[in-house]
Amino acid sequence: MSHLFYQTRDRRPLLDRAEGIYMWDVNGKRYIDGSSGAMVSNIGHSNPHVLAAMRAQMDKSTFGYRLHFENAPAEDLAAKVAELSPEGHDKVFFVSGGSESVESAVKLARQYAFVSGQDSRWKIISRSPSYHGATLGALALTSYEPLNAPFKPMVTAMPKIPAPRCYLDRDNLSDEERGLRYADMLRDRIIEEGPDSVLAFIMEPVGGASTGALVAPESYYGRIREICDKFGILLIYDEVMTGVGRTGKFLACEHWNINPDIIATAKGFGAGYVPLGAMTAKQHIVDKILDAGGFQHGYTYAGNPIACAAGLAVIEEIFRHNMMENTTKVGGELLAGLGRLMDKYPFIGDVRGKGLLTAFELVSDRETMTPLDRNLNAFSQLVNIAYERGLIIYSRRSRGGVEGDHFLVCPPMITTSEQIADILAILDDSLDELAT
Ligand code: PMP
Repeated sequence: MSHLFYQTRDRRPLLDRAEGIYMWDVNGKRYIDGSSGAMVSNIGHSNPHVLAAMRAQMDKSTFGYRLHFENAPAEDLAAKVAELSPEGHDKVFFVSGGSESVESAVKLARQYAFVSGQDSRWKIISRSPSYHGATLGALALTSYEPLNAPFKPMVTAMPKIPAPRCYLDRDNLSDEERGLRYADMLRDRIIEEGPDSVLAFIMEPVGGASTGALVAPESYYGRIREICDKFGILLIYDEVMTGVGRTGKFLACEHWNINPDIIATAKGFGAGYVPLGAMTAKQHIVDKILDAGGFQHGYTYAGNPIACAAGLAVIEEIFRHNMMENTTKVGGELLAGLGRLMDKYPFIGDVRGKGLLTAFELVSDRETMTPLDRNLNAFSQLVNIAYERGLIIYSRRSRGGVEGDHFLVCPPMITTSEQIADILAILDDSLDELAT
């Protein structure tokens, strides 16, 4: 009997060891980590350089509280992150995970309004569906009914606009026009809420767990930035899943040349080695708060030396081995392969993604995009079939498919073309088994 509990009673076998894109359970069975855990293990498992950097730091010191000591790994990592971030993002605030990163972004925005004498601005508009984290503040920005329902009324209810799920639209608009139509919903919502009450807009540049690798049309990104500028609203990019190379660029915002005001990252920073994330903001935002007496926010473990030493080694490995270039290359092969599976299986309604953040969605009817309705929940069924066959893919149980029955296929950035072919072959067999 286990004394552990997570979300459900479902249990998986004990993990024994992991290396590269492979993981072994204690029974000796091998799995391909086709989702990098939860899109975390970006550089693969047991990377010797990262492990050595952690060991070296452990031999020196493991913790020094930030009010008592600075530490070199945190300074070095902050400098590296600033160098890799969009112009003006010269200040870096370390956290231990994605929810903390989003909470920090929100609190930075709130305190910025406060010290600027604009505390009538407090609303942060987000999208629906979306996922921004598990803590109560980040959950208020999240729109995913099964996650929100038990906690209503939310601590602070926040307005939502629809996510640009253009693949569901049956209109005669071009992609470009659809992108603008969805972005303009932000403008309409700001006007409806009262521009003086709106502080920020938060979005995942490529959707993650909630929308399954949703990429908006090109036109969407620039228009959202324009609208935020027009109304003096802060643009927050939640790059917790997309950041640190996963989409083929260090940050996904680079694909559209967007410079958000605040960026939240996590997952790929620690890459499964340590809990680590970073929140960056434009210098004038941080300066305003520091000049006014300091940011009223912080976590005990922020800037932990072992975590930062690991984070630095993760970034070094990404560049040393050209992992972002590989991500673009094999991500393209993966998306093309998913497209071929869509040609073969009529119950695949859409495939999408960027880099190695890719997904496919199951439907019973492609025309209406009605979710695939199976009493046994095709969802967990497919995940389990693939798992049995030694491939881990990521899914989120949908509300009867209302949010879309999608599966994320996101192997580590070191995956080779041959390994992509192996993943596609197991998926093909699994879909075939699901169909029969
Ligand atoms: N934001 C996004 C976009 C995420 O995908 C996640 C995690 N799935 C989070 C925030 C929360 O991250 P964590 O689970 O590390 O708190």
